[in-house]
Amino acid sequence: MTVFKKAGMRGRFAAILEWQGVDKSLFLLLLLLPLYVQYLAWSFYVLSRQDRELLVHVDVVHQMVQLEFVLLCLGAALILFGLYLRKRQPENLTYQYVALQFYALTLVLMSYSIGTVSFCAGIVLLGAPVFGFIFMNRGAVWAGAVSALVALVALSYATVWGWLPYAPVMVAPTTMASNLFWMNSLFFFAAPFLLTLPFLADQMLLWWREREHRIHQLSRTDALTGLHNRRRILELLDELSQVCARQQVPLTVAILDLDHFKQVNDNWGHPVGDAVLKQAAQCLKAHVRAGDQVGRYGGEEFMVLLPSANAEDAQAVLNRCRQALTELRIDNGAGGQLSTSASFGATIHQANSTVDLHHSVLAADQALYQAKANGRNCVVMA
Ligand code: GH3
Ligand code: MG
Ligand code: MG
Repeated sequence: MTVFKKAGMRGRFAAILEWQGVDKSLFLLLLLLPLYVQYLAWSFYVLSRQDRELLVHVDVVHQMVQLEFVLLCLGAALILFGLYLRKRQPENLTYQYVALQFYALTLVLMSYSIGTVSFCAGIVLLGAPVFGFIFMNRGAVWAGAVSALVALVALSYATVWGWLPYAPVMVAPTTMASNLFWMNSLFFFAAPFLLTLPFLADQMLLWWREREHRIHQLSRTDALTGLHNRRRILELLDELSQVCARQQVPLTVAILDLDHFKQVNDNWGHPVGDAVLKQAAQCLKAHVRAGDQVGRYGGEEFMVLLPSANAEDAQAVLNRCRQALTELRIDNGAGGQLSTSASFGATIHQANSTVDLHHSVLAADQALYQAKANGRNCVVMA
């Protein structure tokens, strides 16, 4: 159950990434709404307190409430414009830049009003762009982050030089109670970010890791048969040859090619040809030993790697596979069944051999030609 829930969550991340630029900007602007509500709730709460004069500058709180209202109207106007734009110009870049500027500067203003030199403000101002970079247009996020940084630095220096008050809403705390109130307020405003950022980061990294894993798997798997693809089986050839060399055991390299496969396609159509390839692949996998490897080497050619098999063992395994392939009965799509066979060419790569792997593959290929020449459906050892 939790697995499904998690997958669903990560699925939603993927879905957001696919959204159009304007829709992402709208989503961001809508996220500001609860922040406004939170700020207003805080303002009304503090104004309702008996000791408000000791905690905040009441007139500034009133001004901030008015300013919030103006910002709310501006935000609503931007949202309405975005709704108008989303069907007409879903990737409009200017809109994304404007939305991010608005978002960044609103956060800076809210932070400034209660004090920017706190670890809470730091988390908000660092965390917001990180997610921006993943979800939103990078240029727009850079622009928003730079604006926010410039505004913050300017505000900080302006407060130090005495041009502007530091945290204009707050009264400089003189008692434990007023200090506590300030600290609680900072946590209150940072709470939405503190609660969601680590969760989002964790989910996103999980989703990324899964995606990485899936792409990695796809890059080495043959889509039709599910076997190792050509790149992967050649990698395995390389890896196994090194393991076998260390263990001083031989490695058998075999290539097999389905016989008269073109006729299957010609007589029964490509989908039936595909079904033959799939079943042949399953059959080969089922008839090699654990530790042996099978990959799709080409169209209807497969490579089989048998580590630590001597010539007799190798021939026995390959003959078993060959026999099993002839026993397959495959639906021909017209109410009947068809059978298939394959020709095998193999070579044994000795542990202390000076022959390079490439030549062993060529030797297996030549043995395969020989098997075809010998009348097909047989195994030839080079
Ligand atoms: P031989 O016994 O000499 O190997 O004869 P053949 O007909 O098997 O040889 P040929 O190389 O002429 O034909 C291979 C055919 O395999 C041709 C190609 O259309 C088919 N083929 C390659 N890849 C696929 C695939 O993914 N699906 C299907 N259905 N056919 C494929
Ligand atoms: Mg063939
Ligand atoms: Mg072929």
